[in-house]
Amino acid sequence: MKFTPEKPAIYGETLDSLTASLTAAGQPAFRAKQILAWLYKKRVRTWDEMTNLPKDFRTWMAEHFELEPTGFVLDRQSGDETDKILLELGDKSLIETVIIRAPMLGVGVDKSRKTICISTQVGCAMGCKFCASGLAGLKRNLSAGEIVHQLIQVCRQEDAHTPRARAELASFDNIVVMGMGEPLHNYDAIIRALTIVNAEWGLGFGARRITLSTSGLVPKILQLAEEPLGIRLAISLHGATDEVREQIMPINKTYPLADLLPAVKAFSEKQGRMVTLEFILIEGINDAIEQAEKLRDIAYDLHAHVNLIPYNTVEGLPWKRPSNNRCERFADVLRAAGISVTLRREKGHDINAACGQLRLKTEKARETEAGCTA
Ligand code: SF4
Repeated sequence: MKFTPEKPAIYGETLDSLTASLTAAGQPAFRAKQILAWLYKKRVRTWDEMTNLPKDFRTWMAEHFELEPTGFVLDRQSGDETDKILLELGDKSLIETVIIRAPMLGVGVDKSRKTICISTQVGCAMGCKFCASGLAGLKRNLSAGEIVHQLIQVCRQEDAHTPRARAELASFDNIVVMGMGEPLHNYDAIIRALTIVNAEWGLGFGARRITLSTSGLVPKILQLAEEPLGIRLAISLHGATDEVREQIMPINKTYPLADLLPAVKAFSEKQGRMVTLEFILIEGINDAIEQAEKLRDIAYDLHAHVNLIPYNTVEGLPWKRPSNNRCERFADVLRAAGISVTLRREKGHDINAACGQLRLKTEKARETEAGCTA
């Protein structure tokens, strides 16, 4: 389903596009920089707070641009400091944005990182068998403005926890594009959004601290390799052979490992960046030592980092998390070969941190409520 908002979100405008819109409408071009400063430096919530703009111009802006493309619904904080923010869009669709304050266990490394995980679609068309986001399929793409506004909402939520100082996006270590949706399936919007996030006139967040995760859309990976943006890439691998990967990721039928891995290598070489291989460990599916050995070989060939993630149970799905011992044994195979590997500690299990679950539960509750009153 395509959603066409009455007016475009101001957060989806670049300096160039906003300048062009203003000049086409006979407004002074220099207003574009003033507006962007109010949005990203001062983070105002209303047009009227933009006090150095004439009142009739503020009225014109309000008539032509949406200032708040997402609305805050719910903030659920887990006991282990993972924070899920549920946002509502103009068409009442729900999306999730997550703050993860995660200690990462690596090779001799134990440090804390503050990461924001953003969504790019409502639902997802990729149908990965272990994922809550894919359960109901794809509803629609997010606009660039809706993607960027998630980060504004995160800063506002941080403000609520730090009353004395205003939270800056720069206080976060990383942004990962790993929430609901396949980002490369919404290519133009995510590139535009990340351009705004990275720009000095936008949120000014370093591209090297942004990681986009894909299930493996090969042509789009090759397109991304040509982008000047300089973001990092993670591949949701989850299977080190076609046989295993196909069981849980239908996309592997279209783009098997023989196509995917050379594309990843091309990205890594073109961009000069180490790629991360994400590998969710699911009991009895991909947690055997033979899979670890195949994964080791792939990671070695790609000079890739491996991120092992013990599975977060999803209600209604049969998959289980392997024991800690089994996860450690799997990681040891990679460590022994000198592969850079992290084994993620449990985060957000108690707040449905597995991507898409909070949204699904809230939608179900809404349907039930609607049913009751009908
Ligand atoms: S894991 Fe990612 S790509 Fe796969 S269905 Fe879920 S959101 Fe989509």
